[in-house]
Amino acid sequence: MKRDFERFIKGTCIDVSHEGKGVVKSNGEIIFCDGLFIGETADIEILYRRAGVLFGKVKKLYNLSNKRIQPKCKICSSCGGCQYQQLKYEEQLVIKTKRVKEALERIGHIKTNVNPCLGMEDPYYYRNKIQMPYGKDRKGNVFYGFYRQNTHEIIPVKECVIEDKRASSILWDIKELVKKHNIPVYNEDSRQGILRYVLVRTSYHFDELMIVLVVAKLNFPGQRNFIDALVKLHPEITTIVANENSRSTNVILGNKEKVLYGKGVIKDSILGCTFEISASSFYQVNPIQVEVLYQKALDLIDISNNEIVLDAYSGVGTIGMIASKNAKEVISVEINESSHRNAKENAKRNNIKNIEFYLDDAGKFIQNYNGKIDVVIMDPPRKGSDHKFLSAVMSRKIKKVIYISCDPETLARDLKELSQMYDVTYVQPVDMFPMTAHVETIGLLCLKDSKK
Ligand code: SAH
Repeated sequence: MKRDFERFIKGTCIDVSHEGKGVVKSNGEIIFCDGLFIGETADIEILYRRAGVLFGKVKKLYNLSNKRIQPKCKICSSCGGCQYQQLKYEEQLVIKTKRVKEALERIGHIKTNVNPCLGMEDPYYYRNKIQMPYGKDRKGNVFYGFYRQNTHEIIPVKECVIEDKRASSILWDIKELVKKHNIPVYNEDSRQGILRYVLVRTSYHFDELMIVLVVAKLNFPGQRNFIDALVKLHPEITTIVANENSRSTNVILGNKEKVLYGKGVIKDSILGCTFEISASSFYQVNPIQVEVLYQKALDLIDISNNEIVLDAYSGVGTIGMIASKNAKEVISVEINESSHRNAKENAKRNNIKNIEFYLDDAGKFIQNYNGKIDVVIMDPPRKGSDHKFLSAVMSRKIKKVIYISCDPETLARDLKELSQMYDVTYVQPVDMFPMTAHVETIGLLCLKDSKK
């Protein structure tokens, strides 16, 4: 196909896209470029056009932004996981706050104050969930790492600076044991082999650690000896689960599971409540900032003991259970079966009696539910909520809504719909994902005519 763009341009970065790429304008075109920050001028090679926008890479940098720092990780510019590791942390927070404000204005047509993003004291080694693909090179050496951005090529890595430090030596030793015990590493092209990914989940508040082996077949030769050797080497591992995934998709976990060692779950706690988490349950990845996030959300919504709260998109029931201490009753809705199961167990474990759990689509549930709801806490996945859910919230004239979102653009889209009947009265970004372009946001909404 004929190229419809100049291959090389020189330009200056004027903004940062929501994916964390530098934005350059040249000859009426917009170019997105990795690793280029505001004020920097560069020679750029244009690689391709997607949805009308050009994507390029830096060939030569003429000046460095004074917001840059030396990144801790050597592969941060090729792995694509950490878009902002080369920026001072204060600057990362400024960019995130701006992203939320701009998304609300541009997509949601909402002009409101956005509070400065709440950051971490130490923004490294925070992630409690680590997943790595394993591969084999031409010489037969086993390795693991991250996918190079937009590819399935694995870049070997020994330590990742945003992941819990306990994971790296385990991942390394698994590589050694895989060799020793002749466990075949999966090949994505030939679809042969066994081990695809290793997932490590760490508990922040308890000495518990889960390993999930994502394998093409649940039962594979040498399994017992491999597991025995692994737990002998790493007694900090409290459970090991095999998860079968033989499909060729980007989704890491499959549906079939077998517990190979321990209980198949680990526990962790948030603001004094303890939660059991299984291999496939959703659980917030930053155990320190999740407390900041939830505390802020609960302070803002200020639940009283005569109010009934709907916790929609509830995961393993975390925020609903914490909210139940101040509420009359909490109704929790979640679509994922294993999260729903964990949530019910979690309520028992915490001796919480004023909470009910429903396994359902949040939109379908709220449309069919006949009981009273005073307050909604909603925390949908990245794609946001839907018309079914939002229109039901509006037709019920629920007084207060807290929307927790991990994607400012879908948040803005949904708030635009809700702003027919709600005022957005408080917006607070929280940095759950330092070094990356991701940002979590809390939005408080109050029913328009309920305002005093
Ligand atoms: N509030 C939880 C979970 C948030 S993640 C926490 O803070 O930990 C979003 C959750 O929404 C996931 O658990 C996902 O399984 C669930 N979900 C996705 N689509 C849904 C839908 N249509 N209805 C209900 N839950 C859904």
